[in-house]
Amino acid sequence: MALLQIAEPGLSAAPHQHRLAVGIDLGTTNSLVATVRSGSAVCLPDAQGRNGLPSVVRYLSDGAVDVGHDALKAQKIDPLNTISSAKRLIGRSLDDIARDQLPYRFGHGDAVVTLATRQGDKTPIEVSAEILRALRQRAEDSLGGELTGAVITVPAYFDDAQRQATKDAARLAGINVLRLLNEPTAAAIAYGLDNRAEGTFAVYDLGGGTFDVSILQLSQGLFEVKATGGNSALGGDDFDHRLFCHLLSQCGLSQLNEQDHQLLLGLARAAKESLTTDESATIQATLSDGRDVSATIRREEFHNLTQHLVAKTLEPIKQALKDAGVGKAGIQGVILVGGATRMPHIRQAVTTFFGQTPLTNLNPDEVVALGAAMQANVLAGNKSADEWLLLDVTPLSLGLETYGGLAEKVIPRNSTLPTARAQEFTTFKDGQTAMTIHVVQGERELVADCRSLAKFTLRGIPPMVAGAARIRVTFQVDADGLLSVSAREQTTGVQAQIEVKPSYGLDDDTITRMLKDSMQHAQDDAQARARAEAAIEAQGLLEAVQAALALDGDLLDEAERQNIDQALADTAQQLAHGDADTIRQAVQALGQATDTFAARRMNRNIQRVLQGKNIEELES
Ligand code: AMP
Repeated sequence: MALLQIAEPGLSAAPHQHRLAVGIDLGTTNSLVATVRSGSAVCLPDAQGRNGLPSVVRYLSDGAVDVGHDALKAQKIDPLNTISSAKRLIGRSLDDIARDQLPYRFGHGDAVVTLATRQGDKTPIEVSAEILRALRQRAEDSLGGELTGAVITVPAYFDDAQRQATKDAARLAGINVLRLLNEPTAAAIAYGLDNRAEGTFAVYDLGGGTFDVSILQLSQGLFEVKATGGNSALGGDDFDHRLFCHLLSQCGLSQLNEQDHQLLLGLARAAKESLTTDESATIQATLSDGRDVSATIRREEFHNLTQHLVAKTLEPIKQALKDAGVGKAGIQGVILVGGATRMPHIRQAVTTFFGQTPLTNLNPDEVVALGAAMQANVLAGNKSADEWLLLDVTPLSLGLETYGGLAEKVIPRNSTLPTARAQEFTTFKDGQTAMTIHVVQGERELVADCRSLAKFTLRGIPPMVAGAARIRVTFQVDADGLLSVSAREQTTGVQAQIEVKPSYGLDDDTITRMLKDSMQHAQDDAQARARAEAAIEAQGLLEAVQAALALDGDLLDEAERQNIDQALADTAQQLAHGDADTIRQAVQALGQATDTFAARRMNRNIQRVLQGKNIEELES
């Protein structure tokens, strides 16, 4: 239905065009890109169907750069050249960061953080640009075109330097930044909270390594971040670690080598994730020295083990509420963001704390990217949210040709599909037994200026005087944009019909041009229609008077006949060369010149009818 989707004309050079815009969630551990397709936001997966791109960049010895899953896999074997969590460093100076806790060699830049790799010193901006470039490539491959721009999300607490650095990274990646959007705001947009008039909302975001809480206030469609809080060293990883420690003590293990440590930590993480849906999880592994490890953990046990971590998230919420100056009761909605919020005891704790069920029906890993995509779609000038439902409309009016070359619109443009309309038409000439239905498309008044779609003929109309036949013409456009036109003569039921695809061969530019033409020519068209209507009337009157003269011309004396002939000639002259006004004046003069003649004809006709009949016959 792409061809039938149309915006208001005049908004841009090509209002029908859909601009490719995406939302990017540039995360500390994972990044995502999403777009709006047919009115809904969706994440764009890679060729393997994975939505998340690990925010990891590896600089290889041959000058190539790996981004994402391959880089993550190689991190252990090439840690100095594989950069993760660049988001924690972007826009920060060397003084801002705890250098000794990071596994990198730092370059010699002054204030700006640089990381020494085998491809030279890299700033976090350059590292982030690699991630953004990979996401841009993914989007362009999957959308099949160049991006108009992107909305990129940043944490609500990012300062100006961090925001500017994120923009610089996007510029390096060749991305036009439509807007930087706060992550919690993006989540609120994804849930459609921006459609409400007012409200205060809490966003609870627990990812792999960080916890953020934000209090947002929506006022007249604009979100303001009233307060933020959190813990940059608390996340799903801590739950994995707690389970891992429990496993060690249960199995009597200590002093694991790096390989076994990673193995068991990975299994603990998988067990944690499965406990979200299952009542229990079993961990089984064979360690590098051949020992077998096996343990089963129940959900309740896991919850007891990690309840203190859940409780740790509540303190920052209380502080944020205090900072925002609102109580729990003043919160209209709570949104959960981040994969770790899938854990049932997190959901339970949030429900108990706020006294309301949080919003969870969107995927918590994707919700930020989805909201960013929705915002990008609007900023790029595509349909605004409330117009999405009206996408399937007729882009141009559909109608048919009536006598005099006039286009009569039956289905006006922008009618929502499917649609059907019927209108009655009649014959123009006495004894007319066939009618050609010429289906046209466009906004102009004259058929010559519209697009001809199809022609078909309705035959078998019983001979009647002009204007007596009733031909019902029905236009029907189905949900796929297929137009069928049928014409039915009402007394006999004879019928004819045709099917056409009005969008066939009609590209965006053609629609735009046709709409522009109709606006530019509106005045000329109105005059042309007025003239055509006057001409139809003049033509009809000329023919009727000529026929009457042939039959009853003897009713006129010479002067009267001359007078009528003169009026006929004037009318014919105006019909050929005059405008709507002069034609109408000529028609009026012809009417006056034939008044007496018409009255005499009427008398003669009555006499003819009455001749030779008695009163009884007439009464019956
Ligand atoms: P994010 O940073 O939003 O991608 O969140 C990653 C964290 O979410 C990791 O700690 C994951 O183990 C955790 N996570 C993902 N899925 C689940 C799940 N089904 N149950 C519990 N935690 C999950």
